[in-house]
Amino acid sequence: MDLALSQRERELSALGRRFCDEVLVPLEIVVDEHGELPMERRAALRQAVRDWGLAGINHSKEHGGLGLTMLEQTVIEEQLGRVTNGLWSCVWRPPVSLKYGTPAQIDAYLRPSIQGERRGCFAITEAEAGSDPRRVKTRAVRRNGEWLLSGEKWFVTSYNASDFIIVHAHVDDDPDKPTLFLVDKPARNMVHLRSPKFMHNFAFDHAELRFEETPVPEDRMLGKVGGGFDLTKSWFVEARLQIASHALGAAIRAAETANDYATHRHQFNRAIREFQGVEFMLADMAVEIFAAKTMLYRVAWEIDQGADPKRVHAHASALKLYCSEMAGRVIDKALQVLGGRGYMRENPVERLYRDIRVDRIWEGTSEIQRVVIGGQIRKRGLGIYSDWH
Ligand SMILES: Cc1cc2nc3c(=O)[nH]c(=O)nc-3n(C[C@H](O)[C@H](O)[C@H](O)COP(=O)(O)OP(=O)(O)OC[C@H]3O[C@@H](n4cnc5c(N)ncnc54)[C@H](O)[C@@H]3O)c2cc1C
Repeated sequence: MDLALSQRERELSALGRRFCDEVLVPLEIVVDEHGELPMERRAALRQAVRDWGLAGINHSKEHGGLGLTMLEQTVIEEQLGRVTNGLWSCVWRPPVSLKYGTPAQIDAYLRPSIQGERRGCFAITEAEAGSDPRRVKTRAVRRNGEWLLSGEKWFVTSYNASDFIIVHAHVDDDPDKPTLFLVDKPARNMVHLRSPKFMHNFAFDHAELRFEETPVPEDRMLGKVGGGFDLTKSWFVEARLQIASHALGAAIRAAETANDYATHRHQFNRAIREFQGVEFMLADMAVEIFAAKTMLYRVAWEIDQGADPKRVHAHASALKLYCSEMAGRVIDKALQVLGGRGYMRENPVERLYRDIRVDRIWEGTSEIQRVVIGGQIRKRGLGIYSDWH
């Protein structure tokens, strides 16, 4: 059993770390104070992603991406996860579903997205449809050789950084026909209702959109009628690994900050780490990080070994659940070690505390992950988690 990272994996991890420290971290306070990444900073940041060789991190060389393994992507994303205010999202990851498009769609959407010339956002969630996407009310009807989309979408992340939207709609109002559509901006009969404020200040917005018989050309359907879930599912595994990687990076930064502070902060004539109450918090943080990192690299490695997709699906849910909850616990303790300073907005741990909360909600809430894990145990037995193949 060889658990060592290769030279290449170590280099990519170091690249991610330098990009995070030198390019992204200097923008954290700007985003926190401005509420999002100012428009005038965006083009330069896109160029920096290209210059640093980080464009197309999650796509094959065939489509112009970097052709990285999942473990290689993971070690980079872990480092990007150190940054606050969702600035990691500036290193784009075009949706995997795009690679299942027609050759014309791949040329028009995927290739330019990989180069950072285009960007897409994903619109599934609605007021009445969150964890249960069968409740989606957005419908698509075919009329006079085009599709007409009608409905309302919520929480569309990065809408204001995107020039197209991948919309999940039910053809003819039929929940058995979930289907994806590529909607170019600006779109006729599409209204940007608002971009509300959230607990975190994120690099880009989370918009609410209304489609009022928005016309979409026939050739902008992605995949086939009824194929929407299968395409979205392919994104879930990747998104869950990405969240786990970011959560781990965030937890490590918070623990490092707390560990350093505990050495230099003196109260009652001694470094606070000499109080067992503080040292035990540091110990718990370290152990949680140790466990999460081992789990993350294992799941990424399994994907690279071509493990059974069902097994990968089961493991990715457990990983997302564990890492997102672990980060919450670790960052909470880190903030406690920092005392009042940890509660100040200028302190990265305060921002990490707010940022990390959403990781237990998006891409499947913690409860939905437990539903998946429970179902896997029922169907396949506990061995899906307890065996080591
Ligand atoms: C900042 C942010 C960005 C987002 N970005 C996007 C985006 O880009 N595109 C997009 O389409 N969506 C996006 N979302 C939406 C996100 O995916 C949903 O919020 C998530 O799926 C949960 O749906 P919901 O909020 O409607 O909660 P609900 O599904 O209403 O859940 C409410 C509560 O009930 C629990 N619950 C629901 N069903 C079960 C069950 N079967 N068993 C046990 N408990 C259950 C949930 O776990 C939760 O605690 C974003 C959300 C946020 C907050």
